[in-house]
Amino acid sequence: MTDLSLIPALPDADLPAVPERLRHWIGGAWVDSADGATSERTSPAHGVVVSVAAQGGRAEAEVAIAAARAAFDAGDWSRGPASARASLLLRVADLIDRDRAVIARTEVLESGKPITQALAEITGAADLWRHAAALARTQHGDSHNTLGPDMLGMVLREPVGVAALITPWNFPFLIVSQKLPYALAAGCTAVVKPSELTPGTTVMLGRLLAEAGLPEGVVNIVLGFGDPVGEVLSSDPRVDMVSFTGSTAVGKRISATAAATLKKVSLELGGKNPQVIFADADLDQAADAIAFGVYFNAGECCNASSRIIVHEDVAEALTERVIALSRRVRFGDPLDPRTQVGAIVSPEHLARIDGHIRAARDAGARVAIGGAVLAVDGLPGQFYAPTVVSDVTPDMPIARDEVFGPVLSVLRFSTFDEAVALANDTSYGLSAGVWSPDISTCLDFARKVRAGTVWTNTWMDGFPELPFGGFGQSGQGRELGRYGLEEFQEIKTVTLRIGTSRAPWVS
Ligand code: NAD
Repeated sequence: MTDLSLIPALPDADLPAVPERLRHWIGGAWVDSADGATSERTSPAHGVVVSVAAQGGRAEAEVAIAAARAAFDAGDWSRGPASARASLLLRVADLIDRDRAVIARTEVLESGKPITQALAEITGAADLWRHAAALARTQHGDSHNTLGPDMLGMVLREPVGVAALITPWNFPFLIVSQKLPYALAAGCTAVVKPSELTPGTTVMLGRLLAEAGLPEGVVNIVLGFGDPVGEVLSSDPRVDMVSFTGSTAVGKRISATAAATLKKVSLELGGKNPQVIFADADLDQAADAIAFGVYFNAGECCNASSRIIVHEDVAEALTERVIALSRRVRFGDPLDPRTQVGAIVSPEHLARIDGHIRAARDAGARVAIGGAVLAVDGLPGQFYAPTVVSDVTPDMPIARDEVFGPVLSVLRFSTFDEAVALANDTSYGLSAGVWSPDISTCLDFARKVRAGTVWTNTWMDGFPELPFGGFGQSGQGRELGRYGLEEFQEIKTVTLRIGTSRAPWVS
């Protein structure tokens, strides 16, 4: 592995001497768990305890739900003017900008992602709060003035009610910001449960909401594990909706639990996202986007482009380029601004990634680069080498399963139809990419691939204006765009008779 680009530990890194103490935020108060339970978070790169969080149980979840329910039913927030909600969201965006550096640092210490990336994510998150503020003031229903002289129809949009927001560890601040401002813009109240691995920045967000003047109980944060906190949020009849981002397995479980009370469920789940490279593609451009797609966030990304489907005529040339770039991507200390790829989130997850590679070798695939745990000078944490697996056939688990690590599988095709069939040969359908200068080829592919997002001659460009979500087992519902707000709304039809009285039914 000596030919990789490794960034050793920063000599003067200012690691926390005392872990940050994190509490639940319930009904406007910062509280510990009734039984005093806590859980520690160790920095994935540096191996130091960075936070000690209250570990919630059924009791904390139920009190938080009651607070959100009471705040919603009181109506001050949910039926108040959207302009007031928008003003609050804009204040929060400004506070996020003010505290960007400290939020990003906590994100690095808890998740292992590089500091420059974390800073960009916090900036992007502030933009989401501003986008949601804009939507709050421009949302409206419909009127039907065409039903006859004595009838008028109105379609009202209303907040769905109490929303439970359950988030993962890979983009903690960004993902809560894809949900919470939109829920608030719609007039919902919320109970937020961050991942037990990365609670810090969600707690920081709670502090900013309090500083911005959010009324008590409108947002509540309960820290802890999926069982029991997430289970209670998915089953309690006082919760009207669950918005979840995480693994497909947990998403299915939430869906089944929520079915008992027929909650609205919105799911952003896993992916096995293909990029298809046609023979006429710009291979340098494609190779760079492939390296970005697979190594960004150490591949711990629902949008990781973990499958490359490349035309057989250019497969060798493209794979060589990707391998060459893999050697140049800078892996190492996430606190060093030069680092592009940081640590793997936990030792258990590192072992899972390595297990996928061993299984791929056993199945007959070839590891062209990487395929091993990486040692970085001065860092006790867990890292995995940039890995390209070639000679992959569609039936192999490495071609089908979400690895969630810096691991690329390379498959080949010879005809357009074969490329589309391979891209669609998955239970997932989150995102897909296509590379060709021929816009007809790109559009034909974009219309035939089953994925919620299609990138043509680029990868992972995202905008608040554009909806995001998955086909198939990548989820249901959409975030961002106006759809991101509409997820948190109910539709109500109001039918009015005007002037003349009804013709009697009973004669
Ligand atoms: P996870 O499913 O293990 O956990 C996600 C959240 O669900 C955590 O807060 C966890 O505590 C909670 N949870 C666990 N069990 C629960 C239960 N029984 N009931 C309710 N909540 C429960 O996922 P993860 O490991 O944190 O994140 C990785 C996964 O997230 C990957 O599969 C990835 O693809 C997916 N993801 C998807 C998107 C997207 O937008 N589609 C974005 C990021 C991550």
